[in-house]
Amino acid sequence: MSNDLSAPLRAAAAALTDASDVTLLAHVNPDADALGSALALGLALHRRGKAVRVSFGAPDSVPETLRDLDAAGLLVPAAEVPAEPEVLVALDTGSVARLGPLGDRVGRAGTVVVLDHHVSNPGYGTVNVVDATAEATALVVLRLLDELGVELDEPVARCLYAGLVTDTRSFRHAGPETHRVAARLLATGVDAEAVARPLMDSHPFGYLGMLSKVLARAVLDRSAAGGLGFVHAVVTLADSEGLRPEEVESVVDLVRTTSEAEVAAVLKELRPSYWSVSLRAVSRVDVGEVAQRLGGGGHRLAAGFTATGEASSVLADLRTALESVATN
Ligand code: 5GP
Ligand code: MN
Repeated sequence: MSNDLSAPLRAAAAALTDASDVTLLAHVNPDADALGSALALGLALHRRGKAVRVSFGAPDSVPETLRDLDAAGLLVPAAEVPAEPEVLVALDTGSVARLGPLGDRVGRAGTVVVLDHHVSNPGYGTVNVVDATAEATALVVLRLLDELGVELDEPVARCLYAGLVTDTRSFRHAGPETHRVAARLLATGVDAEAVARPLMDSHPFGYLGMLSKVLARAVLDRSAAGGLGFVHAVVTLADSEGLRPEEVESVVDLVRTTSEAEVAAVLKELRPSYWSVSLRAVSRVDVGEVAQRLGGGGHRLAAGFTATGEASSVLADLRTALESVATN
């Protein structure tokens, strides 16, 4: 690990040890790394007798594929998050804005602990444990659990494994040390296939119909991104009707397989003319920078932003930002 996090790790452990009440928050539209990280730490603190709740700003319901991770029933709706939390822990959340409607709690909490792996994280907490070299926030949480002297068991390890397997794309973006961590998690009895399959490999039959419509309209623009190629697809509200967010989120994993394109984008319509955009790059374009220029953020090869208006104008702005980053 290149940066020395021992001081913030010690400070985070001290803040949590002293706390009697801890609120853990994931980013809006939480994924397995955000919610798994929050639930792993939450479970460990709950067992130490602390009052613990885990939540996120939006949407109102917990993604179906992540519900099983909540072994102790720690998840509460955003409306039940205290106005002035004693200790607030923000996980996998690169900026206050990514907490959505719960962002106001940052200014009102007694102590704010930030656990994250986004390079763009400004360090908005009282204590900031941000490791941009970590492939997942789950790895940062594991280091904190070790600092706290928590003994890993299957329910905690399963939450961390869920974050790790998704953020590393099934360990393809994982170095030797991260594979050793995975081995340590599996040694507690985690069933890798049982965790990974619902998260990445299982969809209702209606998914196939949605894909056939969405992928048929996908566009390959070979000259975009400085000639490296750009492929994009749009999932409208009509396309995703009756399906879970999980189905919509996974479309980008197919679109980005296009070999003629360095960059892939999927526009996901969350509300009429309100889009969440997923960006992916193979290796050469920093889509985190592209997303930041458009008001979002993320990592070098996986990033996103939100936008309003016609899909065509969102795409036009995206192409422009992509061009200037790719040719920089
Ligand atoms: P996804 O495409 O899977 O939703 O997101 C990929 C990555 O991009 C996430 O891990 C997150 O870091 C970032 N990201 C996605 N959407 C947004 C957004 O609206 N704002 C910011 N700041 N980051 C985002
Ligand atoms: Mn993450």
